[in-house]
Amino acid sequence: MDVKNFDVTGLYGVDVFDEEQMRQYLPKSVFDKLEETIRDGKELDQDIADDVAKGMKEWALNKGATHYTHWFSPLTGDTAEKHDSFLNYSEDNKAIMEFSGKELIKGEPDASSFPNGGLRATFEARGYTAWDCKSPAFVINDGSVPVLYIPTAFCSYNGDALDEKTPLLRSSDYLSKEAVRVLRLFGDEKTNRVITYAGPEQEYFLVDIPTFAKRKDLVYTGRTLFGALAPKGQELEDHYFGPIREQVSSFMRDVNEMLWKLGIPAKTEHNEVAPSQHELAVIYGETSVTADQNALVMTVLKKVAKKHGLVCLLSEKPFQGINGSGKHDNWSIAKDDGTNLLKPGKNPKDNLQFLVFLTAVIKGVDEYADLLRESVASYTNDFRLGANEAPPAIISIFLGDELTEVVNSLIDQPQKASGKKGRHLDIGVKSLPSLDRDTTDRNRTSPFAFTGNRFEFRMVGSLQNISEPNTMLNAILGHELELFADEVEKEEDKMAAMQEWIKKNLKEHQRVIFNGDGYSEEWVEEAERRGLPNLKTAVEATDCLLADKNKELLENANILSERELNSRAEIKYSSYAAQVLIDAKTMSHMVHKQYLPSANNYLGKAALEIKNLEAAKIPAPKTTMKNAMNVASLIDECGLALDRLDSLLRKADEHKGRDLAIFCRDKFLPQMRRLREIVDSLELIVAKDCWPVPSYGDLLYHIG
Ligand code: ADP
Ligand code: MG
Repeated sequence: MDVKNFDVTGLYGVDVFDEEQMRQYLPKSVFDKLEETIRDGKELDQDIADDVAKGMKEWALNKGATHYTHWFSPLTGDTAEKHDSFLNYSEDNKAIMEFSGKELIKGEPDASSFPNGGLRATFEARGYTAWDCKSPAFVINDGSVPVLYIPTAFCSYNGDALDEKTPLLRSSDYLSKEAVRVLRLFGDEKTNRVITYAGPEQEYFLVDIPTFAKRKDLVYTGRTLFGALAPKGQELEDHYFGPIREQVSSFMRDVNEMLWKLGIPAKTEHNEVAPSQHELAVIYGETSVTADQNALVMTVLKKVAKKHGLVCLLSEKPFQGINGSGKHDNWSIAKDDGTNLLKPGKNPKDNLQFLVFLTAVIKGVDEYADLLRESVASYTNDFRLGANEAPPAIISIFLGDELTEVVNSLIDQPQKASGKKGRHLDIGVKSLPSLDRDTTDRNRTSPFAFTGNRFEFRMVGSLQNISEPNTMLNAILGHELELFADEVEKEEDKMAAMQEWIKKNLKEHQRVIFNGDGYSEEWVEEAERRGLPNLKTAVEATDCLLADKNKELLENANILSERELNSRAEIKYSSYAAQVLIDAKTMSHMVHKQYLPSANNYLGKAALEIKNLEAAKIPAPKTTMKNAMNVASLIDECGLALDRLDSLLRKADEHKGRDLAIFCRDKFLPQMRRLREIVDSLELIVAKDCWPVPSYGDLLYHIG
């Protein structure tokens, strides 16, 4: 491989209209005003828009761009873009490159084809995109045509949010407001804003293009719908952190280069547990920006893979029988001076503040576990959650032994584990033990783990936009802090009130803390005894969006209105059903066109062999006969299962909305599982040269 020398400082951020570029391309006064909005969250002064647009255009033209796009995340799970050129006519009718403030600030895509869950009547089909100046504009320069991308929020004609970003921004503001109120109770008069951070770890698979192209299931759905297990899976645990193969490592290098140019701090890469599975983690950043960056990471992974003759699979469960992919979402909150509010401090006063935030998280996660579960619910993530390799669909919190001990002491529980008798922690009065050593015990089976100075939400799906889980985390914590501030603000003795609040709520919500093995069957039973919800499928999880307590929380916080919630639920039900139906149709297609003809062909060949043997007066071996009979009977079973699936497909349009989603889950999924079982059994018998598609072995063990 031709290795060039990386000049990271020269390279980093060259494709982003970042602070350095803005300084260069904007008048000083405009730059200062824009900085105030970006850094301090001040309202955008619309008068500067023309100057910003001009500077941004000049920069983009210098990078070879002729077009710009308002880039957004509609509720399709993907990003959306429509390219407009800068071309315009001057007053004397000459072609010029122009970009106005109006065009920068607001776009009016004909948005009637985006999911809107009934929010948009046809007569108001217009939607608006609004510039999010906090998330920097960038040029995608992938060797084709460079285009200027402007991150935007997307809403309906009436201002209802139709995207991932809007509720996230609203939730960050809400959490900030309530957290600042709490900080004031601790005498902090300086902090104006509290910021939420996210550090997503992205998992993915790589398969090579020719093999991929032969699998219609991968082509249509991004995951395999059939496939017998390869002789070797992940039993030897030799792939996790194993040596990175050359083709993959050169792919990763190009990914890093493109990401660094885009100002995305790609940091850690390694092989994951399953064969052909990998992970990329970026350095954490402000959540709304990181959410955009993660959407971009997914795009870059796909683009670069193609250049290396590979396809990047982002679906949560592309292969049955080996690990699926998630996106661990590391989440923390900090004051505007950078102080992390989830970091235990050394002195009692700091610890009291830390314990308030910690208790608020514990209380919130217990009360709104269903909402958190909902925030990661998708048809494809259902195949991963609870599949013995990912956290179950039950939400619990891992705190680690030390912090659990502190919690137990606070609620006067005897210290069973440590045997340290009577170590009662009188917070705020006597000194607390220093908690600032690394409390990150490595529990990998918890869906929501405290890792020393942040929480790691591990249920997030690899394919999903991280905005919704972060929105819900912010909403829940904001809500609990609001209740706390309401209660404590009116008390005379604030210290005592805080201590009382911590104690009372830890006692009440302790049931959500679980430090054991989250993948075990015993935990599922134990969780049921504790009364923790176990919402197994995305359909039940989506119902939670409409539960009164959740609606109240999100409406009061101005994060999502009732209309928006109804529309989101409708979109989720219909997307669930649409995905099941695409899977079912793909399966039917593959069985009709590929598996049945191939199996019949194989059987025909076997019959001919037997006939030839008989003609030569050689008795056909029992094994040959048995094999042929097995194939014949599996073909029959397959035909039957296929008939059933086809007849379900004919009935699907008798149902709509949530009813259709339930019909798909309860009727289609069992039938699809059955059909797969039969085809996978056939695959194990039928000769390789008669099998119509690449096997799991071909897909997973190919890259050099
Ligand atoms: P591990 O595999 O041990 O979880 P990684 O290094 O793979 O650790 O990923 C950790 C992720 O957590 C990185 O994206 C990192 O930037 C992020 N992270 C670290 N500190 C914070 C924090 N305070 N807030 C949010 N994310 C953080
Ligand atoms: Mg990791």
